[in-house]
Amino acid sequence: MRKISIFGATGSIGTNTLDLIRRDKAAYDVVALSGAGNIALLAVQAREFNAEIAITALPERLDDLRDALVGSGIEVAAGADAIAEAAARKVDWGMSAIVGAAGLRASMALARHGGVLALANKESMVCAGDLLLAECAAHGTHMLPVDSEHSALFQALNGEDEKSLRRLILTATGGPFKDFSTAEMQGVTPEQAVNHPKWNMGQRISIDSASMFNKALEVIEAKYIFNCDPSQIEVVVHPQAIVHSMVEYVDHTIIAHMGSPDMRGAIGYALHWPARAPNPIAPLDFANLGNLSFTSPDEAKFPALRLAREALSMGGHAGAIFNAAKEAALDAFIAKKIGFLDMADMVENTLYSAQLETTRDQDQTTIAKVLAADAQARALVNARI
Ligand code: NDP
Ligand code: MG
Repeated sequence: MRKISIFGATGSIGTNTLDLIRRDKAAYDVVALSGAGNIALLAVQAREFNAEIAITALPERLDDLRDALVGSGIEVAAGADAIAEAAARKVDWGMSAIVGAAGLRASMALARHGGVLALANKESMVCAGDLLLAECAAHGTHMLPVDSEHSALFQALNGEDEKSLRRLILTATGGPFKDFSTAEMQGVTPEQAVNHPKWNMGQRISIDSASMFNKALEVIEAKYIFNCDPSQIEVVVHPQAIVHSMVEYVDHTIIAHMGSPDMRGAIGYALHWPARAPNPIAPLDFANLGNLSFTSPDEAKFPALRLAREALSMGGHAGAIFNAAKEAALDAFIAKKIGFLDMADMVENTLYSAQLETTRDQDQTTIAKVLAADAQARALVNARI
């Protein structure tokens, strides 16, 4: 039996992961499942999969979790330290699917097991790509990207010589506001922004897709994972979400990864790697697919992509600052304290803040320093709201 843990089990990626595990329960021994506010679901999952331990991120919900699991024999714990400790429990396969930089410590702990780190939490790579990859290398852990674009790239690069890479082409649907003018975007609400046309995802990543901050994070994520020059990473808008990303080689051959927009494709790939196994996603029906279109993103309307490239050229802690400023600005947008377009302004101001200059320019040497940079950036954004 394969020992597995899922951090962020109650979220969109977590429930999709458990959906796959459920189909072959006898093959897995579930060690840890974590959630935050959704105690009822976490308890149901922990009982169904007979987890060794269930952890909520929220200390004030520990009693609720304990009550929900009474008589089950399942351990309970709460708080960020408890999540990090549970992630240190030995597994063969660990899913990192907490949302935000809050997932960084679980990713780092899962990187130390020498098995597979299935990485949905792109923020870990954006904030601390150097440290996370070094940790994986030091422990012989295979980091498999679960972000659909990066899983697609990983698969299209499989078996090729990385020196023959010319371009990575990340696809983006363009989100719900692709055809909006800047004036129209000014007044959009979180309820409108969360309404992603193709992918069914958690609230935060859905809004990030609407602002293209999700794609911006993915450009930074791709740079670390595939160790290429940022100039080799392109973004194209492809609203149908059938081509999940493409790799161009020096001979101008392009290998595109295609499939239905269903995260169980990328999760299943990471779960069964290096083998392939049947999965429950809808097969593509080419005859009825219709047109596939590709256009350039409008970087004047969506400044997030430009800001990501600027953060990449800064290096050091700029990724952590970029992500933290984005998270704090997103919190404020969800709370209706700032407008949709204000998010990019906040990120730009924070990224270039003179107050963060020293922090920004430091190399990523420890997770504590990355988290300190994250905290400073959040404080700066919150002080401006
Ligand atoms: P969700 O919001 O659906 O789920 C987030 C999970 O994290 C839940 O289990 C939630 O608990 C938990 N959580 C929330 N806040 C904290 C915290 N502070 N500390 C610990 N746990 C917390 O997110 P998604 O599943 O959509 O995304 C998860 C990650 O995967 C993100 O990094 C995202 O960018 C990435 N990703 C997601 C994709 C998708 O299709 N959804 C696609 C590609 C990448 P609870 O619900 O109990 O409150
Ligand atoms: Mg993605």
